[in-house]
Parts: sequence; structure tokens; C-alpha cells
Amino acid sequence: MLSTLPPLETDPLWELIRLFKEDKRDHKIDLVIGVYRDESGQTPVFDIVQKAEHWLANNAQSKAYKQLSGNAQFNHHMGQFLLSPDKASAASHCTIQTVGGTGALRVLGDFIHRLSPNATVWNTDPGYINHQPIMEAAGLRVNHFRWQQKEGVLDIESCLSDLSDARRGDILLLHGCCHNPSGIDPTFAQWQAFATFCKNTGVIPLIDMAYQGFGDGPDTDAAGLRWLVSQLDLVLIASSCSKNMGLYCERIGAATIVTKDTAQQTSVRVLLEHIARVNYSMPPDHGAAVAAFVFSHPEQWSAELTQCRLRILTIRQQLGSTLKALGASAELCALAKQKGMFSLLPFSATQMQQLQEKHAIYGTSNGRINIAGLQTHQIRTLANALIDISQ
Ligand code: PMP
Repeated sequence: MLSTLPPLETDPLWELIRLFKEDKRDHKIDLVIGVYRDESGQTPVFDIVQKAEHWLANNAQSKAYKQLSGNAQFNHHMGQFLLSPDKASAASHCTIQTVGGTGALRVLGDFIHRLSPNATVWNTDPGYINHQPIMEAAGLRVNHFRWQQKEGVLDIESCLSDLSDARRGDILLLHGCCHNPSGIDPTFAQWQAFATFCKNTGVIPLIDMAYQGFGDGPDTDAAGLRWLVSQLDLVLIASSCSKNMGLYCERIGAATIVTKDTAQQTSVRVLLEHIARVNYSMPPDHGAAVAAFVFSHPEQWSAELTQCRLRILTIRQQLGSTLKALGASAELCALAKQKGMFSLLPFSATQMQQLQEKHAIYGTSNGRINIAGLQTHQIRTLANALIDISQ
């Protein structure tokens, strides 16, 4: 029976990571995997996370099952973090804990399929590598719209023109901040334009908030999302604590559904819990208990999160100014203006291969590099290599 299994390609990202590990060159630089690294090249455990784990080790009372929706305290804090403490009470929402941001996307994909099996998900091009496979695995059709910059900002005319075929009930999948892979984020006025588009067409926004706090800080990063929530009857949100708490392997995220009509919330919750039940019953508690502790120590968390954000910003600016000083093209220098961990180089797959072979610098084949994986002493090497490959 197994002989009839269709051949599947190995995951290209994990394949690159394997190649990087096998590369014997001492000066090699890994800009592939999307994790934050500090100046020593480590992905540190936040101090507040360590404090939470000590506290839990000493105080956790029971490992008995929790609810299908996961850790209630975590869900409460996550709702507030996304929607802000004052607006959370106004907007009626349901948040359930999920297995990372990926789990949230899949739960929401299943939710959409239950409500509207013929809905099309409109995805950015370029986009996050796993969005299309997750939505297709949930049985949904995926179309694309261009996500590119024009004179340093998102070219929203191309977005809206590509979205002209979207129909009522379709899904507009946007990154809440720090677009992966391009680093191009909408301005606030552009978020307002997306809200107007959704209002006029009946298209429903699904906001993937995987990097809140990594762009301009948690509240500014959520400003676009909060505007959508203030304007529309229905907003879906997938969120994650992988990056902003450094809890990657604990797999902690949330699916949130905001409705204007409070009466709809009970059936929303029941359907979300049903989807969880038939997939994994309930999510593991440890990461959520840690995250709930972190959320309730906002000052210490904010200090550590700000440190990560500012390091990424500094590295980005230094890379931008080094490129400029070395006479790089405006297209390359544009990465200085982008947001979050990633930028997309204006390189073909062949050029990315050359970067790897000639300079031992690893990014993904579509040109994505993880700026948050770079150390200060590597900036000049990277800038010189980029200029060499672009010639
Ligand atoms: N959405 C985006 C845009 C991402 O970049 C990622 C992970 N890098 C995720 C979702 C998934 O996050 P998690 O690791 O929490 O599943």
C-alpha cells in the first residue's frame, strides 16, 4: 500500500538548514530560519520566561485536563494584547489557545471552510511560505495579490486592483505587522483603505499577527488590526508568542474571532472548540501558563521585547547605511526602511545559490534573509557579498 504514496519533496527550508549545518566554512552566515538571535548568535530564553518556569515548577497544582479552549488566563491576556485593554471590552471576541500561530491558522482555515466551503483566501505575493499549504489543507482555494513597494511604501493600487475579483465571503489574509518575507507593511492610511475595501465588498479580513512587538512596538504594530476591528462586523486573527516571547518550541498561539454582534459569540466559541476537539482535543498547557505569567509582568517583558526590537532595528539601519556607503543600488538599500525580522533581496534563485556557494551566506531561494539572525561584525561581509552578487 505504501508503494502508492505520492512522492513529496523535502521541505526546502529544512533542507537549507541541513546544508548550512554540513557547510565546513568557518565564516558561514545563517540567515535562513526565522528566529531572533542576539549579538552572540544565540536565541535566548527571556529572563521573564525563566522566572515563569521556576514559578510554575514550584506552584503548579495539577496536570488535570483544562478546557478545550486551553488556558483561560492566557486567552484573556492574548485578547487584550491584540485588541488593547480598553477596546477589548467594547469589541466582542472569542480567543482560544492553539498550537502556535500555525495551529491558529489551521483552526481558522477549518472554521472558514465550515462556514463557507467555497470561499477563496486572497494571499499576498510574495507571502509566508506556509499560508497557502495550510489554507489548502483546510480545503480552501487560494488566490494571490501583489505585495510590493512603490517609492518606499506598499503599492496599494496593485493590491486593490488584483483584489477586484474577490467576492463577498472571501478572505483577505494580511500580516498584522512585519510582513514575512518582504518587511513591507501598510501605512495606517493603507490599513484604512483595506478596511474600506472589506466594508464595501463583504470580504473578511484574516490577520496573521506573528510578530507583534517586533516592528514599532506592540500597540503601533496592532494599530491596523485595531482599525479593522473598529470598522468591520467580523475579523479573524491568528497570533503567536513564538517570537515576541521567544517561546518557539513551546508552540503557543491563539485563534481570535471578533464580531460586532455579541449574540454570535456563543456559536463561534462552540465551533472553534469543536474544531480543536476533532484535531487534538486541547492544546498543551505549559507554554500557555508561561505566556500568561509573562503577560501579567508587562514591565519586565516589555523591557526584554524592546531590547530585541531595537537590536533588529540597529542591525537593519547599519546594514542599510553600509550598503549605501559601498554604492549599492537603491533597490538593495530599501531594506533599511522595512520592518521586522525579514527582508526580500532583489535576487533570483540562481543569485541566492551564488551567495551560498561563493560567500557561504544562506538565505531562502526566493531571496528572503533574516536580518534578526545577523551579528554586527557580519554586516560588512554581508554588504560586500550582496553587492558582489548583484553585479
Ligand atoms: N505566520 C507567519 C507570518 C510566520 O512568519 C510564522 C512563523 N515564522 C507563523 C505564522 C507561525 O508561527 P508559529 O511558529 O507560532 O507557528
